[in-house]
Amino acid sequence: RNGFKKESFILSVDVGTTTIRCNVFDKGAKIRGTCSSKVVLLYPEPGLVELDPEELFNGFIAVVKGAVQDAGVKMSQIVSLGIATQRGTFTTWDRTTGRPFHNFISYQDLRAIESVTSWNGSYTMKAVQGAMRLLYLVSRQKRFLAASILVFSPQQVTFRLLWALTHCTQLRQAVAEDTCCFGTIDTWLLFKLTKGEVHATDYSNASSTGMFDPYQMCWSGLLCSMLSLPFSILPKVEDTIHSFGSTHSSIFGVSIPIMALIADQQAAMYGECCFDVGNVNITMGTGTFVDINTGSKPHTSVAGLYPLVGWKIGEEVVYLAEGNAADTGTAIKWAQGLELFSDVQETSAMAYSVADSDGVCFVPSFSGLQAPLNDPTACASFMGLKPSTNKCHLVRAILESVAFSVHQLYQTMLRETCIPVTKIRVDGGVCTNDFVMQLTTDLIGRKLARPVHHEMSCLGAAFVAGLGVGFWKDKEELRRLLTTDQMFVPRQAAQSGTELGAVSAEYEAVLWRWEKALQRSMGWYS
Ligand code: ADP
Repeated sequence: RNGFKKESFILSVDVGTTTIRCNVFDKGAKIRGTCSSKVVLLYPEPGLVELDPEELFNGFIAVVKGAVQDAGVKMSQIVSLGIATQRGTFTTWDRTTGRPFHNFISYQDLRAIESVTSWNGSYTMKAVQGAMRLLYLVSRQKRFLAASILVFSPQQVTFRLLWALTHCTQLRQAVAEDTCCFGTIDTWLLFKLTKGEVHATDYSNASSTGMFDPYQMCWSGLLCSMLSLPFSILPKVEDTIHSFGSTHSSIFGVSIPIMALIADQQAAMYGECCFDVGNVNITMGTGTFVDINTGSKPHTSVAGLYPLVGWKIGEEVVYLAEGNAADTGTAIKWAQGLELFSDVQETSAMAYSVADSDGVCFVPSFSGLQAPLNDPTACASFMGLKPSTNKCHLVRAILESVAFSVHQLYQTMLRETCIPVTKIRVDGGVCTNDFVMQLTTDLIGRKLARPVHHEMSCLGAAFVAGLGVGFWKDKEELRRLLTTDQMFVPRQAAQSGTELGAVSAEYEAVLWRWEKALQRSMGWYS
């Protein structure tokens, strides 16, 4: 009916922080084959986090081949490829040789933190903000208001790119000779898959770099000139669904059309069918992200919610406002490394095995605190340890901190956007944890739907790649494909038989103490 043989498939790859995963989807959005591998992170020095570009590309090829083999289908049956990628991780390379000038510098890397802090407090920055405020007062254009409250964050590409430009002679030379390409992971993979034919990205990825102006929908001229960033190295920005090119036939034996590039968080939002204003997606993975669909206008935030392009598909541009807590899943992994438990699956039962955290609070801030506190100098900490505190209390405090972070971001989002929340979806590795899910639903007082597959970025990338070739017809068809595994209901609401619940008194005191712990951790490294 849609012009494809019955056995056509969509391939989608999600390059996350911990895993590269490839799924083969059939017409019913069922996963017919899957393959994943670990993302190898390099820690050359404390605070530095890198990835080897060639190794990442080889990992990508391996999971694609593995998934297609797992599905027992032929490469020629794949009609479209969609790629979702972690954001803010970038490298630079030589356009002619394709050789990178340095490793990928991860969004988790802290090498630029000092420049970020000193720029944020600088006179230049204050002067720019003042000028923008004036322009806003005169014109009432929101983009000037946004620029007047602009502060940099180490997770954005900007200052890590400046670091590379300052420290890498070859890179500077290539910029001067106009042979340099900059790219986030999607752009690098596209360049490699097309054997150097295409240097491009999509709006969702571009808007996640911190160097893109979502109001004007182009690379930010203000930022590039303020920081002397070379425009010439930036990729062309295309729609999320676009004919980006095809994989070179020497790679998979046939060429597969690359029909979609999308940033991972935006992909999760798409995979959860959060297509309408007020739809919220909460991702609990390596970091926690709370995203709300703000419709066709970017939201200007004073609390540090980030305006992102969700996707641009033809005339439709959807914006998101996003808040994040960078280190929630990271803290769980850290605790595992410390042998507080051996398998993450045990953590929910451990947390339930004690009545409370014994008064212990955990601050998940290995790389500072994000919105609404926005303090890159905050430290991670356990507070309130007692001789009676055992491993289960510590694990409970860590899991509680994930739910507390979601609650804090959710409240900030409600306060700031004033958009009525129309539905909430959840995904990410940590959402498989029942304790975290129940506490989160109790705290925010709303029902939470946990999907069957929590890898929504992969599904989202498949959805856009499939729409791009007419494999699926429209959003209505996608909505019908989405399934829910389990519904979590706020305990207070379940008891009273109402739709919504309020934070229970029992937790109000704990939350208050946790917020005090956050305050105490702030400014530690200043
Ligand atoms: P990514 O951010 O790379 O996309 P995932 O969404 O797969 O990662 O989430 C990975 C994180 O989820 C890891 O920090 C892992 O420790 C955590 N995690 C996975 N399962 C559980 C669980 N049952 N309980 C708590 N944490 C979990």
